[in-house]
Amino acid sequence: MSVFTAYDLEVVDSVLLRPASAVISVREAFAGNARADSVVLRHDVDDNAGSMDCALRLAKWEAARGYRSTYYLLHTASYWGRPSFNADCRELASLGHEVGIHADAIGWCFEHGGDPHVILAAALRRLRDTGVAVTGVAAHGNALCRDGQRLVFVNDEIFEECPRPEAGPRPRAVGLTEIDPLPLSSYGLTHAAERLPHGWRLSDSGGVWSVHPQAWRAFSGQLHFLMHPDWWTQAL
Ligand SMILES: [Zn+2]
Repeated sequence: MSVFTAYDLEVVDSVLLRPASAVISVREAFAGNARADSVVLRHDVDDNAGSMDCALRLAKWEAARGYRSTYYLLHTASYWGRPSFNADCRELASLGHEVGIHADAIGWCFEHGGDPHVILAAALRRLRDTGVAVTGVAAHGNALCRDGQRLVFVNDEIFEECPRPEAGPRPRAVGLTEIDPLPLSSYGLTHAAERLPHGWRLSDSGGVWSVHPQAWRAFSGQLHFLMHPDWWTQAL
């Protein structure tokens, strides 16, 4: 799955991360620690071969440079609950990073039926059982979220604080389930990544830069940067 190389990582570091006043986690940004010239670094660890192992290598690479970030772990991924999972999560946290949940509960129930709240609550219990504190969530972009051009649902619609009027009102039925939101606080969560106010946004979703690297030097102010370790398995 890898599309980015060690050279690409060096470009990211030299153009975006090293010049920033700080590279911080999403939790820190929500706490008000994001200065104008900081980078808020987020990783969605999706379900492709080697993604979690790459996340751990990236976490060490970042820690060695004094960077902190957030790793959102996907409860429907094959690495979830693997034998080393508890140690994996504790290692991410011990390196100074935030561990969050990458929510796909609506997506799972859309296809299989059931109550997304039951699925998400069980996933959060499992993640917290590893010993790490979890207060943040990011929605997974399941392929089922769209039907052609039409937005069907977003996985963070499970939370009251995350309305998506462009997808539809709540409560509403989608696939084999229903979206009937609860507050973030009912899960012991305090922040949803997509709700972070930001100046600039950059992502490598789908293995394609949302903004061409030649335009990165024009970024000024706070940058909200989303990297998927899935695409960097050959880079480090
Ligand atoms: Zn995802």
